[in-house]
Amino acid sequence: MNVNQSAPPVPPFGQPQPVYPGYHQSSYGGQPGSTAPPTSYGAYNGPVPGYQQTPPPGVSRAPPSSEAPPASTAQAPCGQAAYGQFGQGDVQNGPSSTVQMQRFPGSQPFGSVPLAPVVSQPAVLQPFGPPPTSAQVTAQLAGMQISGAVAPALPPVGLGYGPPTSLASASGSFPNSGLYGSYPQGQAPPLSQGQGHFGAQPPQRSAPPQASSFTSPASGGPRMPSMTGPLLPGQGFGGPSVSQPNHVSSPPPQALPPGSQMTGPPGPPPPMHSSQQPGYQLQQNGSFGPARGPQPNYGSPYPGASTFGSQPGPPQPLPPKRLDPDAIPSPIQVIEDDRNNRGSEPFVTGVRGQVPPLVTTNFLVKDQGNASPRYIRCTSYNIPCTSDMAKQAQVPLAAVIKPLARLPPEEASPYVVDHGESGPLRCNRCKAYMCPFMQFIEGGRRFQCCFCSCINDVPPQYFQHLDHTGKRVDAYDRPELSLGSYEFLATVDYCKNNKFPSPPAFIFMIDVSYNAIRSGLVRLLCEELKSLLDFLPREGGAEESAIRVGFVTYNKVLHFYNVKSSLAQPQMMVVSDVADMFVPLLDGFLVNVSESRAVITSLLDQIPEMFADTRETETVFAPVIQAGMEALKAAECAGKLFLFHTSLPIAEAPGKLKNRDDRKLINTDKEKTLFQPQTGAYQTLAKECVAQGCCVDLFLFPNQYVDVATLSVVPQLTGGSVYKYACFQVENDQERFLSDLRRDVQKVVGFDAVMRVRTSTGIRAVDFFGAFYMSNTTDVELAGLDGDKTVTVEFKHDDRLNEESGALLQCALLYTSCAGQRRLRIHNLALNCCTQLADLYRNCETDTLINYMAKFAYRGVLNSPVKTVRDTLITQCAQILACYRKNCASPSSAGQLILPECMKLLPVYLNCVLKSDVLQPGAEVTTDDRAYVRQLVTSMDVAETNVFFYPRLLPLTKSPIESATEPPAVRASEERLSNGDIYLLENGLNLFLWVGASVQQGVVQSLFSVSSFSQITSGLSVLPVLDNPLSKKVRGLIDSLRAQRSRYMKLIVVKQEDKLEMLFKHFLVEDKSLSGGASYVDFLCHMHKEIRQLLS
Ligand SMILES: [Zn+2]
Repeated sequence: MNVNQSAPPVPPFGQPQPVYPGYHQSSYGGQPGSTAPPTSYGAYNGPVPGYQQTPPPGVSRAPPSSEAPPASTAQAPCGQAAYGQFGQGDVQNGPSSTVQMQRFPGSQPFGSVPLAPVVSQPAVLQPFGPPPTSAQVTAQLAGMQISGAVAPALPPVGLGYGPPTSLASASGSFPNSGLYGSYPQGQAPPLSQGQGHFGAQPPQRSAPPQASSFTSPASGGPRMPSMTGPLLPGQGFGGPSVSQPNHVSSPPPQALPPGSQMTGPPGPPPPMHSSQQPGYQLQQNGSFGPARGPQPNYGSPYPGASTFGSQPGPPQPLPPKRLDPDAIPSPIQVIEDDRNNRGSEPFVTGVRGQVPPLVTTNFLVKDQGNASPRYIRCTSYNIPCTSDMAKQAQVPLAAVIKPLARLPPEEASPYVVDHGESGPLRCNRCKAYMCPFMQFIEGGRRFQCCFCSCINDVPPQYFQHLDHTGKRVDAYDRPELSLGSYEFLATVDYCKNNKFPSPPAFIFMIDVSYNAIRSGLVRLLCEELKSLLDFLPREGGAEESAIRVGFVTYNKVLHFYNVKSSLAQPQMMVVSDVADMFVPLLDGFLVNVSESRAVITSLLDQIPEMFADTRETETVFAPVIQAGMEALKAAECAGKLFLFHTSLPIAEAPGKLKNRDDRKLINTDKEKTLFQPQTGAYQTLAKECVAQGCCVDLFLFPNQYVDVATLSVVPQLTGGSVYKYACFQVENDQERFLSDLRRDVQKVVGFDAVMRVRTSTGIRAVDFFGAFYMSNTTDVELAGLDGDKTVTVEFKHDDRLNEESGALLQCALLYTSCAGQRRLRIHNLALNCCTQLADLYRNCETDTLINYMAKFAYRGVLNSPVKTVRDTLITQCAQILACYRKNCASPSSAGQLILPECMKLLPVYLNCVLKSDVLQPGAEVTTDDRAYVRQLVTSMDVAETNVFFYPRLLPLTKSPIESATEPPAVRASEERLSNGDIYLLENGLNLFLWVGASVQQGVVQSLFSVSSFSQITSGLSVLPVLDNPLSKKVRGLIDSLRAQRSRYMKLIVVKQEDKLEMLFKHFLVEDKSLSGGASYVDFLCHMHKEIRQLLS
């Protein structure tokens, strides 16, 4: 109690506060604006009258198989690429169509029919592949810049391209390169960038590159002020020239000699482009390197403008350009720049609306009144004042919230504030919790709520004088008045049934059917549990965990075990009536580990023996969860079930499933059924679990289809996790499984939780994504919530916002700690509001945007055809960028692609989402894999989605061995691989070590202890432990990558040109994918076309 302490700025928080008699406003679930007397918390999950069948916002499940598909699945041809050319800045997948054509001969889904108003050389294009559908063609046409081509400075060299002369006259004919049609593969409207603009000219195939500098005046057609009316074809998009403060003007890009390297066959790497830092030199501070080449005539006739649209004009000489992958925005560069610019200083949260450093930057956070970005990240830190503006921009307003995020050791956990019996102080009307933004008035006797403006009395015990600025003099003594994040101890009013909770329990439920026994899983697991039980989560300095444990085994029937400490041997009780599950024992089922250690150890020794000769192959599933939930109910506690399950539950029982996998549904309107549960039984069960605070973690060990989409329903709705180990074999997979298991069992979990996000007047939370259940539109119910899980919340306007007051978010999480303490964790965040669109675009965070968009799309596949979902994403992205172009960018020619600085990676990242396994699966991706990935992504934080969609590719031998730091990453493209090097690739779930065929013998010896490349075992998952600097460095790097991720990444060694390389290439996301996903360059071209279409 230091109410009246004089205030040293950051004093001892956490003392119990004075009790204010009569303050009983503790209803958690109060509705904002409600003036009704507080409802008691106990009701929140009591008899829930009518759980609505609203699609639970969180119903998404689906994570990536972290298991590498078996080698046998790699069937597609690989190794066609000319590896000798890798690592060269000029051998891009973009510009040199020649190279590209050679590389993916079999994978050209890009159509090639001449587009409608095509004037010439249809035949030339034939080699590209099958024609696109007519719909595609039409779409591709519209808005395309079909201006004349120019005689190339150099004759194009390339398979499948027509003679240069025909190209020169190819007015209006734009070789279609496929899905995204309008641009020939690898050629795009040339982008030249300065200040985040990409000066794109109408695509000119085989034209010499041109560097268009942004400093050049846009010399396109007549400019029209935008927003004053529709733009006509051919008109530039001027518009009110909004300043672009985030665009530092950049020096004109370097111009290289005309035609240099661009149209010729790949040659040796130009000195400037090391494969380690592709594009690095060219892209600084948002100014992207130019296409290599001069820009003859730039600035004068820019015919593209006059032929903008689908009305081909007469061919005009045009400064030819092509898209240079080194000149388009590079994720690597953006990440590097942010690390360099923002990694050294702590991020101090005192200022409203600050954009935090990127998730890929290492930084410390100092809480000075707003929640750390580790807890909350937003798509934009500057919200449009009106819904009209928001609609115009189409930028989703969302926050990715990780309420229990783990912090680095240097940062303190949130202080716990104890207000005693009175409980936390809240606004009477909207129930928001006391926070630094509440305004004290009338000398401190009242406060005005920052969320709903209601004036509240300050209870006498909480009274404090104000200083001359109107601030309470004890502001810095109290976390809730000075920090963005803190906790309150909850009173009994916040507890179910008005009773303080018991400590939670863990129940281990082990499949002992034939497959589980035969694979060695049961023996391995039982052995591990003997020691793992000593590491159950505990709180603070507690000597031992308060969590009790119980054990069940099952196949078609369930076996409960009495492990009471007084017993000499465990006792088994069999329940064979799985249709009407009950728990046959209460006393002795859930026990304290240290008290019952001997009995537990004996049980874990006996289980593998008892079932060693089992022939039972059938399993049940729903009754197992039911049993665990009933056991927790009987014990009157929350808790977690750990299920270890191997097969499709086909035994006669509730929740019985059939094999309904059907790959023929892919790309049909029925594809969505693959993601939907095949029975509603699991949803019903999940609701019961949530009501009991029973969280379910599922470890799957399938040898074939197990219907992950259905089995993961309960984990998904209860805030649990799913792990999948396909074709589990102890020798190959035990490290991964045990590592995941240890982490999962030990992690701190909040149980029986409810999360509510309150907002200041003008916006409100309208949609939620994650692993949870919702029975109404505002309360996110989580049977369990761990430090890895996020909830993504979308906001919409319901009124006008005010620039001066900004917008506030308060996330309140009520939960039971591992020790059984009921607490409230509060996170506050203040955002700016703007009346200028430019301010919105200047304060966006693309990584968070992608997190939201991926979750939005992954939920969408439940109800819509995948193609529709993909199209929606593309359209939205185009709208976002077109709005910027129209309203914020300086006037420039229509042929230029101009991206906002903060969103310059939006196209590349979005493309990764579009071609991910859920939205565009390759032949080797199983239905279960897709459901698994879908479920995983749903709970991912921003750092996880970032690396998951755009993997990190690290060259290992380019930097000095002594260097302690991680080598700088290179772009995820085959072009960046040098066959003389070794690379690590990781995406948070998978980890590959790619070995180039020409790697030095010494390196091979040092890493693998064999004398030549050919002797390296493909598919190896463990590197030999060798006593040399390189081996130590690589193994150390692998360890450190694993430590950064929430799941263990199994290593797979891939040799260049080996069949396993197919798997690896799947993750080179800047390239065209075998499943038809566009390359980055092609997608950017497509996006440009879409944008222009919107603008025209
Ligand atoms: Zn209020």
